[in-house]
Amino acid sequence: MIQLSTINQQTVQQGETIELAAVVETALCVGAGGSSGSLADKPILKNSQGQLVIPASQVKGRLRHECEKLVRSLQWPVCKSPVATTMCPQRLGQSDTDFDLPSYRLREPIGQTHRDREPGYQPQTHCLICQLFGNPALPARLQFSDLVCTEPEENIPEVLRPGVSINRRRRTAEESKLYFLETSPANASLRFEGSIQLLPPWLLTEGEPIPFAKALILAGLQHIHALGGGKSTGLGWLHWQFPTADATDALEIPDSVWQWLGNAPKKSSTEPSTGTQTVGEDA
Ligand SMILES: [Zn+2]
Repeated sequence: MIQLSTINQQTVQQGETIELAAVVETALCVGAGGSSGSLADKPILKNSQGQLVIPASQVKGRLRHECEKLVRSLQWPVCKSPVATTMCPQRLGQSDTDFDLPSYRLREPIGQTHRDREPGYQPQTHCLICQLFGNPALPARLQFSDLVCTEPEENIPEVLRPGVSINRRRRTAEESKLYFLETSPANASLRFEGSIQLLPPWLLTEGEPIPFAKALILAGLQHIHALGGGKSTGLGWLHWQFPTADATDALEIPDSVWQWLGNAPKKSSTEPSTGTQTVGEDA
């Protein structure tokens, strides 16, 4: 059971930062089509100081995808990204009733409007994923930095991997389709460091917000085993480290939060497609 008294203490949180490091065991290929200064057709991405980077957008995209899968498997209603019309709060084709949960009803930002004081006002509902990663109507609570390689540029030899395009129908190599991928060296255990900044939670129309963000982020990261291109050919395999975790216990997640995540509210109505119509009691 959720102990409300313990949860309330956790919610008085300001913005905080999760420091993280990806240790890439195999060669990494995070290419950028327009990069210059390399002989490769798909060169590796570097920042202006010449350091190898894994872009923030890629980490964010992968983490959102993994968190969506997790939350959906725990039976929480989740909207369908990345198309705006099927995401919160529009959710074309999905039942609004399913999403009308106390933890989804967000209060209007203070100082922006006073619509929530008007009679008949319906608060916008946003799923757990949108509350973290945002959507066209709601800013993201998570800010990702690029993951930057800690190894100095001069210590990293440029590695070109030849490849050929395969014609799937004829199952032969295509003529004149030899290409070169630039990757980081294999077995170098390159370390890429960055951070995820966590802004304070959205306020709910009633009750205190549950501090579920860190639990989801950490669980989602554990499902990202590889980044970049060529994952099926063994490129970009990695594991995560949390540099500040041991010292401060900053990543300690209270049991009550895991329990809350694992106890998604039961649906009040059945799907119309099941044939047997059951009308939900309350909306
Ligand atoms: Zn959503």
